[in-house]
Amino acid sequence: MARVVIKIGTNTLSGADGIDLDYLESLADQVKELRNGGHRVMLVTSGAIGAGSRRMGVEKRVKKIEYRQAYAAIGQPLLMHSYQKAFLKRDIPIAQVLVTREIFNNRESYLNVRNSVETLLKMDVVPIFNENDSISTREIGPVFGDNDSLSAHVASKLEADQLIILSDIDGLFNKNPREHDDARLIPVVEQLTEEILAMAGEGGTEFSTGGMKTKLKAVKIASRAGCQVVLAHGRAERILCRIMDGEAIGTRFMAGKKMNSRNRWIYNAEPAGTILVDKGAVKALEAHKSLLPSGITGVEGRFSAGDVVYINREFKAVTNLSSDEIGLITGHHSRDIPKLLGADRRDDVARPEDIVRLEG
Ligand code: GLU
Repeated sequence: MARVVIKIGTNTLSGADGIDLDYLESLADQVKELRNGGHRVMLVTSGAIGAGSRRMGVEKRVKKIEYRQAYAAIGQPLLMHSYQKAFLKRDIPIAQVLVTREIFNNRESYLNVRNSVETLLKMDVVPIFNENDSISTREIGPVFGDNDSLSAHVASKLEADQLIILSDIDGLFNKNPREHDDARLIPVVEQLTEEILAMAGEGGTEFSTGGMKTKLKAVKIASRAGCQVVLAHGRAERILCRIMDGEAIGTRFMAGKKMNSRNRWIYNAEPAGTILVDKGAVKALEAHKSLLPSGITGVEGRFSAGDVVYINREFKAVTNLSSDEIGLITGHHSRDIPKLLGADRRDDVARPEDIVRLEG
């Protein structure tokens, strides 16, 4: 029995005239089979912007942000209506969960989403996630931007065992199969090496957002959560059940070593700024010591206490002090902190358990 997150790309669920109901019917059949096999299923769906723009007679990819937001607002209920039709027939209750990058960035709101989704799972409901595109734009704050990344964050935060990313390609090839006839599918990837990462070209088509690059990024996020990822063609016969039965189909990425949940949250959060530190401080952090004011040389950006920040782009950490406070104490010795910030303030800017080292 496994906890499975399934990401369905826009091209997978769309036919020539928009959302393909027959496809959603077959998807619902497969989800039913997985549930009967004891698996807990969560979906991450794309297609809101595509459905909304088609509904308004637009056949081209929409680039303007305000229109993407508007089309997402039009398309999301259409999308859910189609899912509802297919899943209701099979008596599978579904729920819509719209999230933003900011909600996942903030520890409190993320724990809140996690609790509500855990409750849905307990009630045997299939949560269907999408990014809340109507309110989530780069102009307002950090975004996922593509649902490959969103699906990996969902898999990581909800402790999934398996992430299945369905799209219109069969998996990872050693070179772009759309351009090279002799491209070879890679069935299993034990580790995401530089060589593997180099195989991903740029991607995305008229309506879809992600390409192989975003998929491999997603694999990285999921793999740190001890979650295996399979990339496969969404239209292949009974694809979900075959993957869960262990059949060699698509590309299977083995899970990496599982990082604990708090460290993963720090690792995956979008940093609010940067604390710059000297070599001595880097050494101390490498030795799992606290970040102390004496090693700080500056700050970039504005952030509050409790935010996740970069330390020199080598680490990410939860800071105990805001950027303004760090400005006041930069370069000072710990014993000066009470004088500078008040008697009850701690002298460590970040505790060892709140600091994670980034991979090269
Ligand atoms: N959230 C977008 C939508 O539903 C899709 C993003 C993506 O294609 O990855 O339209």
